[in-house]
Amino acid sequence: MTRTQRWDAIVIGAGIVGAACARALAMDGLAVLVLESGFTGGSTTAAAMGHLVAMDDSPAQLALTALSLALWRDLAVELPAAVEYDACGTLWIAEDDAQMEMVRLKQQTYRDAGIACEQVLGAAALSALEPNLRSGLAGALLVPGDGVIYPPSAAVWLLAQAMARGCVVRERCRVDEIADQSVRCGDEWLHAHVIVNAAGGGAVALTPSLPIVPRKGHLAITDRYPGFVRHQLVELGYLASAHEMSSESVAFNVQPRATGQVLIGSSRELVGWDASTNRRVLREMLDRAQRFMPALRDTSIVRTWRGFRPATVDKLPLIGRWEPTAGVWIAAGHEGLGITTSLGTARLIADMVMGRTPAFDVSAFAPNRALPAAEVAA
Ligand SMILES: Cc1cc2nc3c(=O)[nH]c(=O)nc-3n(C[C@H](O)[C@H](O)[C@H](O)COP(=O)(O)OP(=O)(O)OC[C@H]3O[C@@H](n4cnc5c(N)ncnc54)[C@H](O)[C@@H]3O)c2cc1C
Repeated sequence: MTRTQRWDAIVIGAGIVGAACARALAMDGLAVLVLESGFTGGSTTAAAMGHLVAMDDSPAQLALTALSLALWRDLAVELPAAVEYDACGTLWIAEDDAQMEMVRLKQQTYRDAGIACEQVLGAAALSALEPNLRSGLAGALLVPGDGVIYPPSAAVWLLAQAMARGCVVRERCRVDEIADQSVRCGDEWLHAHVIVNAAGGGAVALTPSLPIVPRKGHLAITDRYPGFVRHQLVELGYLASAHEMSSESVAFNVQPRATGQVLIGSSRELVGWDASTNRRVLREMLDRAQRFMPALRDTSIVRTWRGFRPATVDKLPLIGRWEPTAGVWIAAGHEGLGITTSLGTARLIADMVMGRTPAFDVSAFAPNRALPAAEVAA
């Protein structure tokens, strides 16, 4: 295709969301061009934990994560080893009887949504599954359909799938402007029937009224300790940490990696694009992890890093048509769930672009929906 030709679709951003959208649109037979200012999977996608998780902060979030998990499980057999897919399941940890009540409520919510979670574990069963957890915890909910991947490799693979269907990718190509059915990269205008703004935190620079703010998070990874942890372990308090936009927070969230390393999270801060390491928050995050897993004190941390979740006030991504500009669609604002929800987002975008009825009502994700006032200016 020459420069003067019109593409069917241009996807801006080759993070995991853009890669998944490019794949879905290419699989629908569209001629797709992907424009990426850096390199594939190199931004927030590279900073993520890679937990594929059903989340129930709202019915819309549960519907999108459930759809996405089903799509990841369908893909599992095709994923190459580099994607490190591990169907390890999640254990939602309850510290006391009050949290065990929350565990049972969560189990009912998940069951109602068709998500398998038959097992509520008591203290002894939890300890048998995860011996490095401290004693005295009340129990946990096991969600066996959750898993773990290595996000940047997943983005590369999804985009390779799109390229196998004719998609063209231009890395180190920044989009400077979006107009009706066209984008500008430097002096060059490119045209397409469909423009998908999947630029993550960068989406706002191209579509300025999008309500996305950066939400910083730190992670730490240990040396190799195979078998140290067997499931993704998350404290129930994580939900409150993820939900609350007005404060800095840390929560216990630990993951087994294919390498035998232990990935430790997580923190949330609204500090704009301040990329410095917040040693105090990192310390609090590690202290909290050690409170749940005292044996972590004897492990070596080999690396820490931070990334910026593209967050919205109502914790839901922006997925759908952007009416003010002809041909423009938004797939951005996935906060701490974009690895999980990339496939579901791509399915919804492809369904809407192709005129199919999406799997469920998507109005909760409308990019121009009314949002509650931001509690904190970031
Ligand atoms: C610490 C941390 C832990 C996380 N853990 C998890 C987890 O366990 N599970 C989960 O589901 N999610 C997790 N997330 C969230 C997840 O990482 C994000 O939601 C997801 O990566 C967003 O993907 P994206 O493709 O929208 O954005 P990005 O990965 O940021 O991709 C956007 C791409 O667009 C490109 N771009 C930007 N502007 C332009 C432009 N003008 N022109 C061209 N290209 C442009 C960028 O270079 C980038 O490559 C975590 C995030 C963080 C920070």
